[in-house]
Amino acid sequence: MTQAIGKKVKVRFAPSPTGDLHVGNIRTALFDWAYARHTGGTFLFRIEDTDTTRVTDEYIKAAIDTLKWLGLNWDEGPEVGGENGPYLQSQRLDIYAHWAAKFLEQGDAYYCYCSPDELEAVREAQRKANEAPGYNGHCRDLTPDQIGAFKAQGREGVVRMRMPDGSTTFIDEIRGEVTFDHKFVPDFVLVRADGSPLYTLAVAVDDILMKVTHVLRGEDLLSSTPRQIRVYQAMGVAQSEYPAFAHLPFVMGQDNAKLSKRNGEVSIAWYREQGYLPEAICNYLALLGWSPGDDRENISMKELTELFTVEKVHSSPARFDMKKLEAINGDKIRALPLEEFAKWSIPFLIKAEVITGTEEEVSLVTRALPLIQERIVKLDEAPALLKFLFVKDFVIDQEAVAKVADEQAKNILRRALQDLELLTTWDHLSIESALRASLIEELGLKPRIAFTALRIATTGSTISPPLFESMELLGKEASLARISLALSL
Ligand code: GLU
Repeated sequence: MTQAIGKKVKVRFAPSPTGDLHVGNIRTALFDWAYARHTGGTFLFRIEDTDTTRVTDEYIKAAIDTLKWLGLNWDEGPEVGGENGPYLQSQRLDIYAHWAAKFLEQGDAYYCYCSPDELEAVREAQRKANEAPGYNGHCRDLTPDQIGAFKAQGREGVVRMRMPDGSTTFIDEIRGEVTFDHKFVPDFVLVRADGSPLYTLAVAVDDILMKVTHVLRGEDLLSSTPRQIRVYQAMGVAQSEYPAFAHLPFVMGQDNAKLSKRNGEVSIAWYREQGYLPEAICNYLALLGWSPGDDRENISMKELTELFTVEKVHSSPARFDMKKLEAINGDKIRALPLEEFAKWSIPFLIKAEVITGTEEEVSLVTRALPLIQERIVKLDEAPALLKFLFVKDFVIDQEAVAKVADEQAKNILRRALQDLELLTTWDHLSIESALRASLIEELGLKPRIAFTALRIATTGSTISPPLFESMELLGKEASLARISLALSL
């Protein structure tokens, strides 16, 4: 990516938290972070919260928390501060007001008094005439008398930027040279009638004042670039000081439409609740629309920072594949050391009310986790698999009851009970050899039939961790009591 010689890279991630951050936002944040880390530059995090009707404190907190959870640490921004703060745009309103006033004074901007209805009427006429919809410049050159008349009617003006005739050309580092004819970039609003700034003003002012050198962001913002460049010009910024732009292609759903709630899960909070690990999400998203030049599916954060370059970002949209993400999550879960796996799983068990978190419970969970580490792809599968160890009022799942009620199952359970009572050592090897000797060898039963009945009787379900290990952890007394209970059904 273009890099001015001797200038330290500064990349920013600047979400407008009008909801939970979504997959596309996070992919952008990850690429921003990776580029900053790769170049030894600064990663700046800015909250664009000027739209107070849609941004809430809760979403701001959630955005900060999500970035932390993913491990995308920032060098300047909320909580950590920095020399260009504050980093919440709502705390910078006087700065935007200053620039808007300056643009008015310079004649770059003007007050527009058109009402929403009048603007709609213009758009309607444009639609009918098959013209591109947009502001028609009605208030560009109002006389003082006309302005006075509007004010006398009680109209409050918005501040609009004057777009000169001509076009804007800039280099997008992913798609090359891009030109916007100003016929399609009408004069745009900088400040609403209530005095609050719009995104286009705030983003451009901040990128300059915060000395951002690289803007890597979603493709949906490509068309706002000529407007931002217009703001830089009005600020008197030399072209050599403009940030470099790279617009990342969309993330599409399986149906090739832009990923949305309709065709996929978009909220990162959802993935977190389901038990996806941050490293799996980062690994998956890193390779969504970027690759280091091979077809690897696994990449660590360290490798990402070593290898990430914008040149290797694909210019075509990337397709989100939930199955691939699940597979990567399963890999990452299997690769966790036991203590880490416990650290991630325990909150899920507590949330599902399988355990409350006592020392005793945690110690049993830690012994049980190796039994499920190979089997689960998401952490939220852990509670269902381990709850048999902790339930106070043990019951057999409704749909499994019938499988232990017939005569054959009863025979199996009766025989198992007899043999297991005799065991003096209660470990999975002794349990297995006792049961194999009697049920499989002596009675000639198929293992699947014999052990399914025991699995249901002791764990309450047809799906459980390995049977003999589960019985070992459950303990002799509880295992036998449960088998007796099943016999009484
Ligand atoms: N705040 C804008 C948004 O969330 C993005 C700003 C930018 O990256 O330029 O859509």
